[in-house]
Amino acid sequence: MYKISLITGDGIGPELSDSAVSVLNTISDRHDLKFDITKLKAGDAALKETGKALPDETLSTIKKSDACLKAPVGESAADVIVVLRQMLDLYANIRPAKSYPHMPALRDDIDMVIVRENTEDLYGGKEFSLGDSAVALRIISEKASKRIAKYAFETAAQRNLMRKVTCVHKSNVMRITDGLFVKSCIEVSRNYPDILFEQMYVDACAMNLIRQPEQFDVIVTTNLFGDILSDESSQVVGGLGMAPAANIGDNFALFEPVHGAAFDIAGKNIANPSSFLLSIKMMLDWLGKKHDDTRCIAVGKKLESTIFDLVKQGVKTKDIGGEKSTSEFTREITIRL
Ligand code: ATP
Repeated sequence: MYKISLITGDGIGPELSDSAVSVLNTISDRHDLKFDITKLKAGDAALKETGKALPDETLSTIKKSDACLKAPVGESAADVIVVLRQMLDLYANIRPAKSYPHMPALRDDIDMVIVRENTEDLYGGKEFSLGDSAVALRIISEKASKRIAKYAFETAAQRNLMRKVTCVHKSNVMRITDGLFVKSCIEVSRNYPDILFEQMYVDACAMNLIRQPEQFDVIVTTNLFGDILSDESSQVVGGLGMAPAANIGDNFALFEPVHGAAFDIAGKNIANPSSFLLSIKMMLDWLGKKHDDTRCIAVGKKLESTIFDLVKQGVKTKDIGGEKSTSEFTREITIRL
C-alpha cells in the first residue's frame, strides 16, 4: 500500500484531482497495487480559508506520505510549489516532451527531457524593493549546479537514446552566475566520457526547439530558463494538456502537470486530465524504481499506453481536437484499465 498525498489545487485543479482519484482507485480495485489517497488543501482556496497557502497540516501529511501528487494552484503558486521544492529539497524538475502518434506534434521523432534545476536562480524568492527600484537576487551555487548536471548525465545514460546532454545558459551576458553553472556542468561531464556534451545559449535553444526539436536528448538548465523552455517543448509535442512533470529529490518526489490552474476553463469539465495522469505514470515509475516494485512500472506503462491508444482512436478532449469532457475521457481510461 502506497500513501499518496494529493493537493487538489485551484482552477481546473479539483476537476483534475477527481480524475486522478478515479484512476488510482481503479488501479487499486483491479490490480495488485493499492493506494491510500489523502486529499490536501494548498493554494488560493486554502489561503482564503486558513490564512496560509500551504497549511502546516498539509505539509506534515505530505512528509508522512510515499509520494505527492499536486494539481495546479493559482496566484499563490509561489507560496506552495516553490516552498515545497525548497523544503523537501526536490532539486530536479523533470519535464519530458515526446511525440506520440496522432498528437499534433511538430515532428514525429521528438523525444527529449528537460532537467531543470529546481531550488535556486530567480525563483529563490529573494526579491525586495530598493528606493524606486525592485531587485531580485539570482543565486546559482556550484553544489546545486553539479547535482543537477549529474542528474542530467545519469538520465542521458539511462535513456540510452542519443546519449547527449545540452547545457542551456546565457553565460555571455550573465558571466558570473551562468558562468558558474556552465563550469560546473563541464566538470561533471568529465565523469561521463561516453555521453556527448554540448552548450547552447537559451535564445538559440528557444529557436531550435521549433526549428530542429529532434536534435535534443537531455537539456540541463537553470530554474527560470527551464520553466519557460518546458512550456515551449510541451507545445512542440502537442500542448500543455499532455505535459507531465516530476520534482525529484534524494528521498521524496512530487508530481504535477506542467500547466497552471487555467482559470479560463475551470469548472467547465473540459480540461484535459492527461498531463496530470501522465504525471501519475511518472510517479509509478519513481515508486517502482525506489521500492524495486515491478507492479508500479507495469501499471504505469499500461496507463500511458491507454491514454495514447484513446488519442489514436480519436477519443480525446477539446484542446487536442476531440469532443470528450474531462469526466468522459477519465471514464474511458478507467474502463480500459
Ligand atoms: P502558470 O504560470 O501557473 O503555469 P499559465 O499562465 O502558464 O499558468 P496555464 O494555466 O498553464 O497558464 O494555461 C495556459 C492556457 O492553456 C490556459 O488558459 C488553458 O486555456 C490552456 N490549458 C492549460 N492546461 C490545460 C488543460 N489541462 N487542458 C486544456 N487546456 C489547458
